[in-house]
Amino acid sequence: MTATPVRNSTKALQAADARHHLHPFTDHAGLAAKGARVITRAEGVRLWDSEGRSMIDGMSGLWCVNVGYGRAELAEVAKQQLLELPYYNTFFQTTHPPVVALSEKLASIAPAGMDLVTYAGSGSEANDTIAKLVRYFWNLQGKPRKKTIISRNYAYHGVTMQAASMSGLTAMHPQFDLPLPGVVHVEAPYWYAHGGDLGPDEFGLKAARAVEKKILELGPENVGAFIGEPIQGAGGVIIPPATYWPEIMRICRQYDVLVIADEVICGFGRTGKWFGSQTFGIQPDFMTMAKGLTSGYIPMAGIMMGGRVAETFRNAGEEIVHGFTYSGHPVAAAVALRNLEIMEEEGLVDAAGGEIGAYFQAKLRAALSDHRLVGEVRGVGMIAAMELVEHKPSHAFFDPKRGVGTLCRNHCFANGLVMRACRDVMVLAPPLSITKPEIDELVGLAADCIERTAVDLGR
Ligand code: PMP
Repeated sequence: MTATPVRNSTKALQAADARHHLHPFTDHAGLAAKGARVITRAEGVRLWDSEGRSMIDGMSGLWCVNVGYGRAELAEVAKQQLLELPYYNTFFQTTHPPVVALSEKLASIAPAGMDLVTYAGSGSEANDTIAKLVRYFWNLQGKPRKKTIISRNYAYHGVTMQAASMSGLTAMHPQFDLPLPGVVHVEAPYWYAHGGDLGPDEFGLKAARAVEKKILELGPENVGAFIGEPIQGAGGVIIPPATYWPEIMRICRQYDVLVIADEVICGFGRTGKWFGSQTFGIQPDFMTMAKGLTSGYIPMAGIMMGGRVAETFRNAGEEIVHGFTYSGHPVAAAVALRNLEIMEEEGLVDAAGGEIGAYFQAKLRAALSDHRLVGEVRGVGMIAAMELVEHKPSHAFFDPKRGVGTLCRNHCFANGLVMRACRDVMVLAPPLSITKPEIDELVGLAADCIERTAVDLGR
């Protein structure tokens, strides 16, 4: 018995899809003309499409399949949990064993002092939840004016009303009359694009001090929190100079502004430690977690808290009027826990922070740092980016209308590699379980597709 009708024709699938399915982040006229890519199967670091073509997935899906595809153990724990307790909620003083075990586990791997977690279904919901908890925290502190959230240009925090508002990718706002009031944006620590004559460390301080300037402009009594991804992912893998986060911490502590680390991409080993906060010296009040929490096998997100924030909510003395039907879903919790155990058993975080991460970064630099189209190769652990530029010495970008990133991405799809384009920044974030021969193959394909792009551009 099959749950979905079997169609053996890619064309039939594409036609039905174009007719009935509104895709995220997709131009539908273009899609209907071309037909969607139909992915049918995956194993390890590889995907297969409906025509039997295989691709190496350099993006772990959407930066999430940290343990790689085809993990029978995760299917097994999901099945067991579905049979034993497929659903029960965590409202009204109720819990269940999988969510208890997962919460305890997360407290054991989180940065020191973070020991309280609540759950959501996606990174967007988790960031919306945090924005509400920031308001609630300051209300409980008797500072009801302290509500504005400072975010950054190039930020991606999700697509719900508040999360899209906090995002700083400007294309995300006009279709929906965003941002909502109470969110402001400052410059990003994007040295390659905006560093000018400053060295990275100097520029990192300058970018951090844009936050201080904004706090002083708004008045510290009106600023509730600062939100930032340790590395800005969808904005183009923007890796802050080493000076940036320590200065952000100094500023936020000085003006009593809460720090939210959005770990949706950086969490669960991506940067070579469990969390990007540990890699970059961030001591957050809140952390947003999703993606790698379950390696994308099932939706789940978490909001981690510590210190005075956690104590304030523990001792609020009233019901917190917030929660989702699926907060702490038992099947998702069981899968998340097993996923974290796999990461520990196989040493995947240590590998990303050690030999495999170093190998990946070194191979990419060796293959592409000197390429005439590549202005910079940057990365840490198992996340990396290549800036495709018109003029290397001046860091001059191509006219965005030329769609150079998309051109390169299309070569990748045609040649068996999933590599994402964020503007003209080519981005890689493969599963942490990738092997050295697979890295060789991935880097070879990436270099080949960047070369094809250069040839297309007449370079
Ligand atoms: N925050 C960050 C840093 C993200 O990268 C994403 C998703 N790419 C989100 C939040 C939103 O997560 P979701 O798509 O699960 O809502």
